[in-house]
Amino acid sequence: AAGQAAGSRLLRVESAAFYVASRPAHGEGELTVHHPYDGRAVGRTTLATTDQVEAAVAAAAGVAAEAAALPAHARAAALDHVSRRLAERADEVALLITAEGGKPLKWARAEVGRAISTFRWAAEEARRFSGELQRLDTDPTATGRIALVRRAPKGPVLGITPFNFPLNLVAHKVAPAVAVGAPIVVKPAPATPLSALLLGELLAETDLPEGMFSVLPLPNERAAELVADPRLPVVSFTGSGPVGAAIRRAVPDKHVTLELGGNAAAVICEDWNTDEDLTYAAHRIATFANYQAGQSCIAVQRVYVHEWLYDAFLPRLVAAVQELRTGDPSDELTDVGPLVSEEAARRVEAWVDEAVTAGATIEVGGRREGATYPPTVLTGVPADARVSAEEVFGPVLVVARVEHDRAAFAAVNDSAYGLQAGVFTHRLDVAFAAHRALEVGGVVVGDVPSYRADQMPYGGVKGSGVGREGLRSAMEDYTDPRVMVLTGV
Ligand code: NAD
Repeated sequence: AAGQAAGSRLLRVESAAFYVASRPAHGEGELTVHHPYDGRAVGRTTLATTDQVEAAVAAAAGVAAEAAALPAHARAAALDHVSRRLAERADEVALLITAEGGKPLKWARAEVGRAISTFRWAAEEARRFSGELQRLDTDPTATGRIALVRRAPKGPVLGITPFNFPLNLVAHKVAPAVAVGAPIVVKPAPATPLSALLLGELLAETDLPEGMFSVLPLPNERAAELVADPRLPVVSFTGSGPVGAAIRRAVPDKHVTLELGGNAAAVICEDWNTDEDLTYAAHRIATFANYQAGQSCIAVQRVYVHEWLYDAFLPRLVAAVQELRTGDPSDELTDVGPLVSEEAARRVEAWVDEAVTAGATIEVGGRREGATYPPTVLTGVPADARVSAEEVFGPVLVVARVEHDRAAFAAVNDSAYGLQAGVFTHRLDVAFAAHRALEVGGVVVGDVPSYRADQMPYGGVKGSGVGREGLRSAMEDYTDPRVMVLTGV
């Protein structure tokens, strides 16, 4: 009954406006947003015309100097406003995220909570962000000199975002841009533009100067026009590896930040061996391999278990996976909803079938229904099977036995990706050894790799990207140090 009540509340947005130079606008054609669970239309917007794209970019370039000079209190006030309004409208926004992306309501609520905090943190960082004073008289030739280092925005930012966190990943582009005083043009994912448009509505309520932001729904083919535009010197992209690589090739002279995919691993170390330890790890891994149907860049995909613990761990993991409730994402009790499309679920199915043909065993799961793929645990997977070596972006977990902790760290590193890793250990020396050895952007000790606090530096190495987000990191990314040397002081 709870499910039906929530389902009937699912939002439907007719003719949502997008934003050109801070003002609501309607464009050409139609972009219909479908609910991944049952395919019904949940919203419509239009696509920005060529003239509207031009107006957005021209306005961003035109307002850049004024934006850079905005006082900290004005930037912080706008960010606080968005945070507060998101909190006031949290229920509605969560329903919108569930409607457009098929994310279970409880995870949609978690995303809204994070976006509220992302904007609040950005406001705090905006008040703090100032640069430094450096003494230069460490050398006799520079006696009497100091350097004042301010950070100046590089210029307007282009933010391109994926479907899987349609609100908070837009927040991660917009909030630091506003915090440093850089105009931003956002191009949201075509499958999930509605949350970004709602964010546009909240930004439009602020006193930010006109032209400071635009949110432009565009098909993939037309995003390239924005990428190439020299008036947007910073491109902050979150999405898949191939698109990220194409962007980098297209604009080698721009400042490009790439937050790309991963195939995150968790390690159960030798000392994580009590009944309680193993049960805890099994539940955490079952949850975070399958949250958002595995469509998170740091969802657990691979698990390496010390060989002494493997036989005790595997049945606990299978039991924890079996406890997850798969179904309608608008039901408050659903843990695992559909993938973003049936096509995505078919791809996951094909990868699992391929692994099984190569000798893998399905311990649980493995039968697709429409866009829904059930939480699946595989063992005996060859390391080069796509389900292990590439980013599965679905609710599939590959479990392998390793001889010792160091071998597990080597297996984690044997990947084209390096976003985050989780290391279940109680030992400080093992934690430090993991932190030294693992080629990733972040190591989570005592938990799954799927942990992200929005203020921490976040991003990957190898195929997982270039540069870091997280409020302060993104603010540094969007700005350059500009030094003033003072003489005779
Ligand atoms: P995607 O690469 O298909 O699309 C991402 C965005 O790029 C969309 O807005 C899309 O319209 C746009 N785009 C597509 N082609 C383009 C082009 N030629 N030029 C410019 N823009 C173009 O990714 P997706 O399927 O939406 O998202 C899933 C991917 O995102 C996964 O690989 C996931 O790991 C990754 N991701 C990474 C992080 C991170 O922080 N590292 C976070 C979330 C998702």
